[in-house]
Amino acid sequence: MQSENLLLGAIEAGGTKFLCGIADRDGHIIRQQRISTTVPADTLGAASAFFAQAGADLGPLSAFSIGSFGPLSLNPVAGDYGCITSTPKVGWQDVDLLGHFSPIVGAPMAIDTDVNCAAVGERLFGSGQGLDTFCYVTVGTGIGVGLLIDGAPHGGANHPEVGHIRLPRAAGDDLFPGICPFHGDCLEGLACGPAMRARWGVPAEQLPPDHPGWDIEADYLAGLCATLSYVVRPDRIIIGGGVMEAPDMYDRVRRALTIKLAGYDASMRSLQMDDYIAVPTAGASAGLTGALALAYRTATRQWPMHWSVGRPSFPAQSSLSGAALA
Ligand code: ZN
Repeated sequence: MQSENLLLGAIEAGGTKFLCGIADRDGHIIRQQRISTTVPADTLGAASAFFAQAGADLGPLSAFSIGSFGPLSLNPVAGDYGCITSTPKVGWQDVDLLGHFSPIVGAPMAIDTDVNCAAVGERLFGSGQGLDTFCYVTVGTGIGVGLLIDGAPHGGANHPEVGHIRLPRAAGDDLFPGICPFHGDCLEGLACGPAMRARWGVPAEQLPPDHPGWDIEADYLAGLCATLSYVVRPDRIIIGGGVMEAPDMYDRVRRALTIKLAGYDASMRSLQMDDYIAVPTAGASAGLTGALALAYRTATRQWPMHWSVGRPSFPAQSSLSGAALA
């Protein structure tokens, strides 16, 4: 494949919108369209029309990739490879994403989780620049975790489901049963945005800054970060999503994490918490960019690290109070 002529297609498939894009070899987006996620026939139909028109106007794609909400079947030898599987999202169970687009794009295809694609985007343009092993966490309508390990998104027999781990109950949170339809009080069942709403009776953004719910939330997210620290030993944990926009959430998580790590291990004692627990900085299109990068790798077997040239690097955060806790 001559990289000069690459034409890349990708979809960031989310629970509220599908972001479709076409890019050149340098990651410049030539065309894109936002499509509301409603029922599969309508959403996939509109996305198909976008790529069919793009093919007619621009020529055939070199490669195509999807970064999607899940759970997904990502084992290439599985019969349901490329399908959404047991999602609680009504109507989207067992939808064959790759199979739907295969006859339309007629190019090599790849698929990964939305959070793994966002992690790739953060490595190219955001807070993962210069890092080979880091975690990307999003805390919103669910809790998702992408793992970039040795420069590549991690997946084994299938993608990890870190959002569904079980953690010790936070002090003062013994009674709430959790909302995960599969596990009740797993991490997502206790700490995603809808769980906060179910627990307190109002949306998370309406809780006052001094409400005890924020310390409970920070305790669970710090428990996640401690687990990731012990299992993955990442260079950084990037946390995004609507819940993290609350005042002081990053410093609350940093403080709680420092306590949970309990001074164990010299390398963890030396962590600079304001750097270790970081804000995502790649922007709202990180997922689409990461999916386009996955298409680039599908076409060339290499990651497009040249896309990040000239981009601002990870911002210094030494002014944040977490530095004093490291
Ligand atoms: Zn669960």
